[in-house]
Amino acid sequence: MEEHFSPTQIHKLNYSDGLNDFYIKREDLLPFSFGGNKVRFASEYFKDMKRLNYDCIISYGNSRSNLNRIIANMSKVKNIPCYVISPADESGERIETNNSRMVKNFGVTFIPCKKENVSQTVSWVLNECKSNGLKPYYIYGDIYGKGNEKVAIKAYVEVYNEILEFEKDSQFSFDYIFLASATGTTQSGLICGRLLNGDNRQIVGISIARKKANGKEIILNNIREYLKGDEVLFKEEDICFEDKYVVDGYGEYNIEIIKVIKDILNTDGIPLDPTYTGKAFWGMREFLKQKKIEGKKILFMHTGGTPLFFDYLNKINVGTEDEHPYNTNVSFC
Ligand SMILES: *Cc1c(COP(=O)(O)O)cnc(C)c1O
Repeated sequence: MEEHFSPTQIHKLNYSDGLNDFYIKREDLLPFSFGGNKVRFASEYFKDMKRLNYDCIISYGNSRSNLNRIIANMSKVKNIPCYVISPADESGERIETNNSRMVKNFGVTFIPCKKENVSQTVSWVLNECKSNGLKPYYIYGDIYGKGNEKVAIKAYVEVYNEILEFEKDSQFSFDYIFLASATGTTQSGLICGRLLNGDNRQIVGISIARKKANGKEIILNNIREYLKGDEVLFKEEDICFEDKYVVDGYGEYNIEIIKVIKDILNTDGIPLDPTYTGKAFWGMREFLKQKKIEGKKILFMHTGGTPLFFDYLNKINVGTEDEHPYNTNVSFC
């Protein structure tokens, strides 16, 4: 397993709204377990765990979680015992996805739980590991999921520097960076990178689940914590966390999102998914339209989630009769 990744590619998209230029950073092509931002997180967690002499890892996330897949895969590669705690959806329902199926195939100890008793479950698993003579590392810190934010944030401070390198080489800079924001960790890292470099541009997190007040507060705390000791000033306005495009919450999507996914596959051959990147791309498009933004250079972070693209392939149904008159009965799958 690489301890350091080469910069991921940034390239221009064929996709256009006729007003702005779009570029994409291909975090989805990071060379491990189908890529994505969680490859960088997981790599940092395993490094931190090793440094602190822990010998088993505990991950947390629901059945769509890309992080669970990557932690499970990395633990398999490294031969480290892995526990995955997984809550049901808000509705109480539990779906299977390509991610959850892969998680189980990596031979982890899988612990289902309810959203209401996450902390009791984490606490129980920690004790269980200890009574088996293991030293457990919970990726999110304490039983309330706090205290270990810095480890993953650091990865995206470094990614911000990759963006700066690209800009230096290509002699232009991006006016906006857009990304799918869930816990806000990735966005916090990019914002810290921006602040540490004294840059002034908007990093817009399109929330895929959380409400603005909560999401923004978490990012603010992350930044305060990460930049403690550095003399960097920042204001609340530095954090743009947009919650207008969450639809009905995590994992919920609409026909517009499906259309965007189909468009980007047809214009650029890039897979997006309805839970994260497809929702964020749609949110970005609507944000630009509503604010009448034009003549800008825009960078979209492709944060991964490729297995989730395949979960929805039958809904995307690429190639309508108009587009492919010779194939009227053939859908993409
Ligand atoms: C986790 C994830 C995100 C969100 O990252 P956060 O740091 O939690 O905000 C975005 N896109 C994909 C594909 C993800 O798996």
